Amino acid sequence: MVRGRIPRQPAKTGRHEGAGISRPLKASQKNAGLRPGPTQATKKKSRERSTKGYNPLAPERIAEILRLLDQLYPDVTCALTHKDAWQLLVATILSAQSTDVNVNRVTPELFRKYPTVADFAALTPEQLEPDIRSTGFFRNKSKSVVGAAKRIVTEFGGQVPDDMARLLTLPGVARKTANVVLGTWFKKADGLVVDTHVTRIARRLELTKNTDAPKIEQDLMKVIPREKWILFAHQLIWHGRKLCIARRPKCVDCALENICHAGDKTWSTVEIHKNAKL
Ligand code: SF4
Repeated sequence: MVRGRIPRQPAKTGRHEGAGISRPLKASQKNAGLRPGPTQATKKKSRERSTKGYNPLAPERIAEILRLLDQLYPDVTCALTHKDAWQLLVATILSAQSTDVNVNRVTPELFRKYPTVADFAALTPEQLEPDIRSTGFFRNKSKSVVGAAKRIVTEFGGQVPDDMARLLTLPGVARKTANVVLGTWFKKADGLVVDTHVTRIARRLELTKNTDAPKIEQDLMKVIPREKWILFAHQLIWHGRKLCIARRPKCVDCALENICHAGDKTWSTVEIHKNAKL
């Protein structure tokens, strides 16, 4: 960079180009044939017009989002360490309100101590609690893991079911957990994993206006091609960890910046849509 030159820093509002308050022209300026700049009202109208014609779900925009995510995160997958469907199910239950790193610290010893589903099914929740305490909410999680193990042993012959309907009958298993197991282990795209990262980024990218996970999942299933469901969710999760973090996202480093109008961007070269955030 040439010394003494400071790079352009766009305003948070995205109105950095030629932005300014319109003032009446002086007589000398009028005589010079200059025209007054747009008034605040005119600018507001033109902003409304440009937002009106904008379709965040346009197929070309969705394709561009998918292309950029593929470039950034070509083959990402679930970060929870596991060797089989049961271990993944347990790890996913433990990951609620915790981090994958935290869960990965606990599970190797846990699965060394209790190697099979039957070992877990033979426990009481109280016996399991000390082993998973550090993942938080350990009493509920113990009940879920032991309850799921008992049901898998008694109802499903010791095998983790590979379909949504039966997975949802397990204690502590909702669609998010079921989608993680189905997508990551069984490679079945029954739906999309919607966690805190997917929720935040789907809203920032205006792929949904909803805030609750089941509705967000439905919205995403309508616009993302089915063959992309598994990878797309993992890509958003990784993007949410690396760049599109909850507080102060690193927009200046983000490849999606010029197609993202998020209301809480920290840097923008495009118009801001104030409702595009959580
Ligand atoms: S530009 Fe910012 S808010 Fe938009 S996706 Fe990238 S990091 Fe997230």
